[in-house]
Amino acid sequence: MKDSMLEKLNPAQREAVATNSGPLLVLAGAGTGKTRVVTFRIARLISKGIKPPRILAVTFTNKAAGEMQERIGELIGKRDEDDVPEISTFHSLCVRILRRQIDKLGYPKTFTIYDSSDQDSVARRVLREVSVPTSSLQPRELLFHISQWKSKGIGPQKASSHAVTDKEHLAAACFRRYQGVLKTSAAVDFDDLLLLTEQLFASHQDARTAEAARFDHILVDEYQDTNATQYRIIKSLASAHRNLCVVGDDDQSIYGWRGAEVEHILRFRDDWKEAKVVRLEENYRSTDAILSLANRLIRYNKVRHDKTLRAARPGGEKPKIRQFPTEADEAKQVVADISRRIQDTHAEPNDFAILFRTNEQTRAFETELRSQDIPYVLIGGMSFFDRKEVRDMLAYFRLVVTPEDEPALMRVLNTPPRGIGDKAREALLHEAVKNSCPAWNVLPKVRQLPDFSSKAADSAVQFLELIKRYQAAFKKGSLVDTANQFIREIGYEQEIKRTNPDDVDAQESRWGAVQELVNALGEYEGKRKRPSMQKFLDSIALAGREMERDKDKQLKRNAVVLMTLHAAKGLEFPEVYMVGMEEGILPHHRSVNDGDNVDEERRLCYVGITRAQERLTLSFPLTRRKWGKARDTKPSRFLFELTGQADNPHAGPPAHHLKTAAGKKKTVSTGQSKAGHKKKTTAGSSKPAKKLVSKKLAKFPKKSSSKKRT
Ligand code: ATP
Ligand code: MG
Repeated sequence: MKDSMLEKLNPAQREAVATNSGPLLVLAGAGTGKTRVVTFRIARLISKGIKPPRILAVTFTNKAAGEMQERIGELIGKRDEDDVPEISTFHSLCVRILRRQIDKLGYPKTFTIYDSSDQDSVARRVLREVSVPTSSLQPRELLFHISQWKSKGIGPQKASSHAVTDKEHLAAACFRRYQGVLKTSAAVDFDDLLLLTEQLFASHQDARTAEAARFDHILVDEYQDTNATQYRIIKSLASAHRNLCVVGDDDQSIYGWRGAEVEHILRFRDDWKEAKVVRLEENYRSTDAILSLANRLIRYNKVRHDKTLRAARPGGEKPKIRQFPTEADEAKQVVADISRRIQDTHAEPNDFAILFRTNEQTRAFETELRSQDIPYVLIGGMSFFDRKEVRDMLAYFRLVVTPEDEPALMRVLNTPPRGIGDKAREALLHEAVKNSCPAWNVLPKVRQLPDFSSKAADSAVQFLELIKRYQAAFKKGSLVDTANQFIREIGYEQEIKRTNPDDVDAQESRWGAVQELVNALGEYEGKRKRPSMQKFLDSIALAGREMERDKDKQLKRNAVVLMTLHAAKGLEFPEVYMVGMEEGILPHHRSVNDGDNVDEERRLCYVGITRAQERLTLSFPLTRRKWGKARDTKPSRFLFELTGQADNPHAGPPAHHLKTAAGKKKTVSTGQSKAGHKKKTTAGSSKPAKKLVSKKLAKFPKKSSSKKRT
């Protein structure tokens, strides 16, 4: 790295970047250049002679990893794929470790990674086997509890001692079986990737030492969102050399529901006593007008490290709060505003982001953007990889790599139809359960099963031979050529034509999806020195989860971005619209009902605001349809807080009671105030919407006294 690069940093950033060794914590607010510090520090370590592959950087999403790779490429120049730092998400790091070591835990190294729909089919099967009707426990609920336990590091043996409700007890009983099915299918789910890695390190010192010895430096971005398991993995890898640099912002911790503990970042020095702590206080992203709003809001959180966050960009346009009669009007006006800006200014579609709390909110905006002919991308919607055709083809590929993969086998055994009907497949599964073996192992013996007709048995044997032939072929030949031949032999195109005889569009779109998958395979093969089907499937399993491959491609297109607040973390946009700013949505009703999770919702709101560089608009409809009926909404309490229209129990003068629109006193406990006395105040949400903003809406509301809406 040239010295001129250091000039692109402020003194505090420079101090962090120039710290060559030992533990380092960068604790700083949004947009202060934390990610920039990570990338520059990697470049600097390389310029000081550290070999790039000896550096590991962990980021939270594939998108962030890709961006970091790009930024580092710019700093250190293009290099061979064996000569770059390892930049990955926690999950892909664990996949790589497990591919080398998982045999020590009794799984084959060819294990497959289940996504949510595979998990769903296992959950259904388990519930069927233990005869639990789905009315008492839905597959979705079972998976939710399993995932909650796993993200807290609780295994199947211990789950029942943590169960409280009836559903939890049922789920705990199914957990062991679920895990057993996964293991016989040589499969792991997403949570297992982390848990098994942790378990491996705890039980196999040799594996831990070998994996730790691969790196001399470890850097972690978005550290506030690591959970206990992730932390222990990092600790295992870094404890010998102690060159661990973590950067994060406790105010942006938004994955508490996935077991992340913001305390990790605040307690960093307990484990790493000699750690140097660097604070960054200058925000380079947003104008002062936007940043002061964010600062005002986040001060309402009870537990936080007070930080100074100054805008490096003074002034700026005042953020707007707008209210609309209905959610359709909200969408219409927001899109009209974007359209005007594109026509009247130099703004391009990809300068705009519309951020929302829940996926269901997008429909109105999509409809409007379409009718205005403005290109847009929906990030996190139905993924390419969720399409039926793509899932079918991937199941074939997975079966070639991991024949034990039962959902893959069940998916394609009779797709396209081969005369192996439901009864035959049930019999196959039954036999597999009886012998506790993978269903694949039963296939050669189906002639002995009474429920298999001789025709079905012939088909099954032919199918078995087809897969075996391609197991060999994929090991030898080019992936793309072999895949093309495989797809031809499966007869998938004919199947698409058969099922959509009169619909040419559907034929094209479905066959196009298959082709697109082969394109992705070709792209992957072209990039890799040692490509393999297994690694390709790994990359898809990881990307599919976050839908990042789509996302990456889409973000480069010149289109308005629609995404959730969660997905927006770490990103920035010149103009941001935060829509649906109402009680029940942000904060989400679940977080309000399920104990006290409003602080996490407030951080989410803070993340949204701090994505904006130049312009920010917050809006909500006065009514929203629920089950077809329009209902009144209440503006989000956060709007009152960020405009200074709510009392802050943690700073400022004593709170007083406000009346709700319905005339009832709604009191919420707000815990200890700074002065130490317990205070109560009402939620800002109780204020009537009409008083929050003036009718004209174009201007930012002033602090005003509120009156009842009647
Ligand atoms: P977040 O908390 O949202 O993840 P961050 O702290 O990681 O933000 P970055 O994304 O690294 O912040 O930086 C925010 C913006 O500020 C980027 O556009 C970055 O290029 C710019 N920036 C960072 N440091 C400087 C600097 N010293 N001079 C000029 N621009 C800077
Ligand atoms: Mg960042």
